[in-house]
Amino acid sequence: MRWTFGFLVLGGLLGCSSLGPVAGVSLEEENRPPNFVLFFADDMGWGDVGCYEGSRCRTPHVDRLAAEGLRLTSFYVGSPACSPSRAALLTGCYPQRISLPEVLNPGSQRALHPAEETIAEMLQKRGYRTGAIGKWHLGDAPEDLPTQHGFETWTGLPYSNDMWPFHYGDHDRGLIGNPNWPDLPLYDRGQVVAYNPPQESLTPLYTKRAIEFVEQHRREPFFLYLAYSHPHVPIAASPAFRGRSGDGLYADMILEIDDSVGQVVEALEANGLREDTIVLFTSDNGPWTRFGDHAGTTGPWRGDKGTCFEGGMRMPAIFWGPGHIPGGRVSDHLMTAMDVLPTIQRVAGALRPALPIDGLDQSRLLLGKGPGREREAFYYYYPDELHAVRSGRWKLHLPHEHRTVVEAGQGGLPGKQGRASIELSLFDLESDPGETTNVAAAHPEVVERLLGHARNARAWFGDALTRHGGTQVRPAKPPHPMIRSSDR
Ligand code: MG
Repeated sequence: MRWTFGFLVLGGLLGCSSLGPVAGVSLEEENRPPNFVLFFADDMGWGDVGCYEGSRCRTPHVDRLAAEGLRLTSFYVGSPACSPSRAALLTGCYPQRISLPEVLNPGSQRALHPAEETIAEMLQKRGYRTGAIGKWHLGDAPEDLPTQHGFETWTGLPYSNDMWPFHYGDHDRGLIGNPNWPDLPLYDRGQVVAYNPPQESLTPLYTKRAIEFVEQHRREPFFLYLAYSHPHVPIAASPAFRGRSGDGLYADMILEIDDSVGQVVEALEANGLREDTIVLFTSDNGPWTRFGDHAGTTGPWRGDKGTCFEGGMRMPAIFWGPGHIPGGRVSDHLMTAMDVLPTIQRVAGALRPALPIDGLDQSRLLLGKGPGREREAFYYYYPDELHAVRSGRWKLHLPHEHRTVVEAGQGGLPGKQGRASIELSLFDLESDPGETTNVAAAHPEVVERLLGHARNARAWFGDALTRHGGTQVRPAKPPHPMIRSSDR
């Protein structure tokens, strides 16, 4: 089976049409491409994964995947916030490209556009079975839910677990939310089964459904997208995990998420799929440190969720797949969440989406066949302002405002948030990973080169550096940009 898989990959790399992907065919057992399982945590920081530098949490199961797989140390998500980060992962595009740069509130008129092809839709055409479990947050109208974007089944929440009618002052329940928001619906296999479900019930339900999905589809290639609702606030741990870490509720909850990963991987192994599955574990954005002891940590990085410092967008990322991915490796190759789609596409032998995407195929790096593909620049946007550009070791912040934490909250209540400005600043991420010392004056040629990349990005995505602080107001359901520039 592995030989056949390698043959398909080689054929794809050589661009040999006779070996190329065939869409919509039934897949025989002997040429089955690998399953894919994406674990996507919510607001889990670099410092919340045990095997990463500066971590304060224990994650033995995720650490085991890292030891047996590939651990990345320069993996970036497409946005430091939930909705756009998910859009980038599932479509292979910068959120700006697909007009989804902002977090969607309940009832939002905006959603992932149906013309965008998700990983699930791409793999369905290749004959995969597909399942989504957990948080969606790419549109909550019936026509925008996961089952309209390539997933056969879905169990989970349509958006964040704090988007419900409880408010900051609800101390008894330790909850946050907005009294004007509707009750939070929990979907289970196509039906709303509860409103405002107990937070501690979510991870156990997701785990149960994930294991069922693996067992149900063990004989056919599948794609499982397991997007945990936590550790996003309001945090919770089920009774079996409460107090287990000895280090507070947040660490208990991380242990429970880690245990869930372990259970799903155990199900893969128990069903004989260890050699036939590729797993990715990562997070959508950095921790929401405004919540103090109810938030994670960023390890060595500056900033957090909602900022374009490294702490907002550089995420832990671990690929595991003993049948395909050589283990015991750590790489600082710059890879992004947008690269996941084209990488899976190549490995699965699927057809590429029709519309242009931003991601790069990194399958050679994953499979241990060579270096990954390089990009001249990576762009940090939030929400629809270009805030920074990275090229190699250099990162240039364009002048912008960003939020800060003036005083961290306690016990589930948000702390005090502030605003600060950053001037045009060049940081050397190799010698100054914490983005502390502006060396722009010493390297004017580097500044000019990165400004050139910024100008290119603005031309592609329509950003203007003069729009500081705040988001652009758009009409409801704007026309989708069907004609897009080719930028690669
Ligand atoms: Mg998030």
